[in-house]
This record gives sequence, structure tokens and C-alpha cells, in this order.
Amino acid sequence: NYDESDDGGADNVNVVVRVRPMNQRELANSEETCVQFPGEGQLWMDGYGKDPRPKPFTFNVVFEPDATQEDLIEHSGITRLIEMALDGYSCTVFCYGQTGSGKTHTLTGSPGLKKDFYSEDHGLMYRSFVYLFKCLDQTKEEGVTYSVRASYLEIYNEQVLSLSLELARFNSGQVKDLLNPNPSQRSLAVRWSKRQKRGFYVENLFTVECAELDDLIAVLEEGIANRHISGHAMNEYSSRSHAMLTVHVTREEKENDEGVYISKHGKINFVDLAGSEKTKETHCVGQKLVEANNINKSLLVLGTCISALSDPKKRDGHIPFRDSKLTKLLADSLGGNGVTLMAKSLLTLRYAASAK
Ligand code: ADP
Ligand code: MG
Repeated sequence: NYDESDDGGADNVNVVVRVRPMNQRELANSEETCVQFPGEGQLWMDGYGKDPRPKPFTFNVVFEPDATQEDLIEHSGITRLIEMALDGYSCTVFCYGQTGSGKTHTLTGSPGLKKDFYSEDHGLMYRSFVYLFKCLDQTKEEGVTYSVRASYLEIYNEQVLSLSLELARFNSGQVKDLLNPNPSQRSLAVRWSKRQKRGFYVENLFTVECAELDDLIAVLEEGIANRHISGHAMNEYSSRSHAMLTVHVTREEKENDEGVYISKHGKINFVDLAGSEKTKETHCVGQKLVEANNINKSLLVLGTCISALSDPKKRDGHIPFRDSKLTKLLADSLGGNGVTLMAKSLLTLRYAASAK
């Protein structure tokens, strides 16, 4: 629901990079940092092999390893997206990077500290919810009411195998409801409807009414807890799945005394993407065991959609949203306003830079 005339779309995609501190293993191996921060929004990545010169990259914002969770909500531009969602836009925040690069840390923070309201550890989702309800408390317009609803889902194992098309078919991905896990593991269907400009949606997905901040935080906690139950090898599992929490905001304004209302529907998606690394896997083909490179299909399609959208020449042409479940569900917000990427490796930075 993006109005082309609004701001020319120049800022449609915002790319923010957060470089995480070295972990125990990297410190133990005395590894050296391979990035430099020459100035605001800039990052140099050491070259390697034949071309050791540092490669410069420019982003909307670059966060150095000492950045706090609070710095992220304050300076990443996400508060603006929340305000846009309140104003009827569809927005998306997602974290992109290899497994271990800090996507979950950035979005949800570490698990276990959720009870402490002021914990420094709370991630972007928690802080965004606090900000959202702060905005709602402060907007006291005559005749205007807001309602907030939330859903939390997961898309698991949507992959392309580089082996053969035959194999590609059996990994079309499963959509699971993190607020209503069903033991039979049947995938929920992604459907399309033009009623009320609904577009793509997940059939039978739980959507929880959130009258206050605590309700929204409860949705977050419930989804995180269910995500953990379903994956015993958490790292392995989360490296193949996307978790998406959506906050829907409806604004209703009383137009006149005859009870005519104008309503606007906005939303903001928070997506913890699957790991951007390729994984090697073995499969049986006939009698033979073969190894395949798995590429996460939704990430591939997402990359294609974003680079098309950020190219003024391609933006109005065909964007292949329908090619993956994830991009179907993000279509209205990608075709629209705001996307945030967070990234780490050189490859990732190239991908992120191409979205600029
Ligand atoms: P991902 O979700 O991308 O696979 P995680 O968020 O699980 O990665 O991060 C991997 C590990 O690194 C976790 O133990 C996490 O707490 C830690 N970590 C990530 N980013 C940071 C950071 N900015 N500061 C401190 N620890 C971090
Ligand atoms: Mg993770």
C-alpha cells in the first residue's frame, strides 16, 4: 500500500550493518578483525588472496561491535518504520547473515532474561513493542482508536537443491504457527485473496489481539519458546528456518456522527532469516548417496526481489514475489516502504550493498 508519489521510493530499502564482537573461539584463536570503520555509514573489509586491498562499502548505518541493543533501536531507523506502520504502511525489518552472525541476538536478545523489563539484553523486537505502545499512549486524537494484533510463524526448509529439479520438489518448505504448534507438523497453506486488498496470507494462522504491551511481549515469548521446543539442534534448525513476527495495527477514525469510520491497516514484520551460508547435505538418489549444495530458496528469491526493487529501471517491472513463500508474505511491504538488513561476511556485505 505504498504511494509512489510519497518520497520517490529513494529510501525504500535501508541497509544497516551490525558487526558483532569476536566470540570465544575467535578470541582463543587470536583471530584478527577484518573490518575497519573509517567513518559514518562506512565499512572497509580486508581483501584477501590476489587482491589484499580493503574493499569499501557504504550503508545507511554501520554499528561497531561495541554497539548496544539500545543503540540499535535508537539509530537504525526502525522507530520511523513503527511510526509508518501506525500510519497505515506495511514495513519489514529483517536480519540477514550467516548462522552465528548475531541475527537472533539482534532481534530477540538472548533467551531467559525476558522477565526483567529494563534488561540491556532485550532485542529489537521487544524494544520496538515498547516504542509502539509508547506512541499509542501519546496519540490522543479525538475520535481515533487503534487496535493491535500479532502473529508469529516460521517457514522451515524451503530450499533449492542444486542436484536436480526432481529433488527440488520435495523441499517446498513448511509454514508453522509458532503460537499454535501442531504436532502433526502439517504445513499451513499460503493463499492469496483480493478481498480487502489482503494479498498473500497464511490460512488458519493464529492472530492474537494485543490490548497492551504485555500482550505483545507474551506473543514474543510464546513464539520463542515454541521455536525452541521444535528444534532440538537449535543452531542447525534455525539455520534453515525463517521466523516472522507480524504486528498489525488498525487505525480507525470516526468521520462523522452517523458512525462512518475510516480505517487504515498498517503492519510491521520482524524476520529472523535462515542462515545465509550454503549447507552440504546427503541425499539418496536411486541407489546412490549423493551430496547436494542446499541453497535457501527464499533467500535467493528475496535477493532477486530486493535488487530489482532497488533498481529504478526494474522497479516497475515483474518482481518474482511468487517464487517463494517468504517473499509472497513480504510482497506488500517489500513492494512498499522499508527493509532493514543486517549482515556480516564479505559475501553478505556484497549482497547487502547491492540492495542499496
Ligand atoms: P544467528 O541467529 O545469526 O545464528 P546468534 O544471534 O545466535 O546468531 O549469535 C551467535 C552467538 O553470538 C550468540 O551466543 C549471541 O549471544 C552472540 N552474539 C551475537 N551478536 C552479539 C553481540 N552484538 N554482542 C554480544 N554477543 C553477540
Ligand atoms: Mg538465530
